[in-house]
Amino acid sequence: MEKLRIAIQKSGRLSEKSMGLLKDCGISVSNGNRTLLAPGKNFPVEILYLRDDDIPGYIADGVADVGILGENVVLEKGEDISVISRLGFARCRMSLAIPRDQEYKGVQYLQGKRIATSYPRILQQFLDENNVQADIHEILGSVEIAPSIGLSGAVFDIVSTGSTLLSNGLKEVDVVMKSEAVMVKGSGLSQEKEQVLDKLLFRLNAVMKARTNRYVLLNAPDESLDEIIRIIPGMKSPTIVPLAEEGWSAVHSVISEEGFWEVIDELREAGAQGLLVIPIEKMVN
Ligand code: ATP
Ligand code: ZN
Repeated sequence: MEKLRIAIQKSGRLSEKSMGLLKDCGISVSNGNRTLLAPGKNFPVEILYLRDDDIPGYIADGVADVGILGENVVLEKGEDISVISRLGFARCRMSLAIPRDQEYKGVQYLQGKRIATSYPRILQQFLDENNVQADIHEILGSVEIAPSIGLSGAVFDIVSTGSTLLSNGLKEVDVVMKSEAVMVKGSGLSQEKEQVLDKLLFRLNAVMKARTNRYVLLNAPDESLDEIIRIIPGMKSPTIVPLAEEGWSAVHSVISEEGFWEVIDELREAGAQGLLVIPIEKMVN
């Protein structure tokens, strides 16, 4: 069978999580010393280790079939590749920042200014959309020091916590895009490769769902069951088992990680006791 070739980052912020995701999908890689190309065990794939910036080009050229990388890089490279799944890690935003002591009233602040960035394409598009003319100065690293050395009046860069900006005397003034790791694919995969990809996506879906949901077990007096079922409808509907003690039941269900604590509060208010929350390994519908 033809192998699906998956490009992932060789070393960097995405590497471990990309490998972890593939592993959770049942794909382990027989590669201790990280050669460029390694066969996957027990699944028809090969893993190609690259710099994240090179991944879009390799996929567009058909050298790799799919890849895992930051959405920011996908957009910046502008290659003909499509996002097929959002992966929920390496979250960050692409923002404009200016010296802390400057006043920012809107994007017009940037008119005529020089802006340092490693993402000229995304920035240019944003400036065009806002009818701002500015001088984009492309640099590959340490963008955040550009204003303090007099290279530029503003920067456009990746921000996750904002502490790097802060320690360089900058403040974030506009978020241009949000980014997370995504899986991308090229066009023109063979039918056989598409079949392998379908299988991979099925697994990926099960893994992603499991990661964003929790299994809950709780005890409740029978009179509060209606309210509890309203709060946690579950995949189909919750499992309800009577306890040995008359008038009490155990409820088992699945809840989303999103708004998790609010749901727990609601459940307790409704009369739930002895709550257990358990991670889910895989979730298949
Ligand atoms: P490479 O050597 O492969 O070119 P890199 O230095 O360009 O690596 P990393 O710093 O490993 O890239 O970041 C990879 C991706 O992780 C970024 O493109 C972005 O999508 C995401 N990311 C999330 N948070 C951050 C952050 N705080 N700083 C940089 N990148 C981040
Ligand atoms: Zn890179």
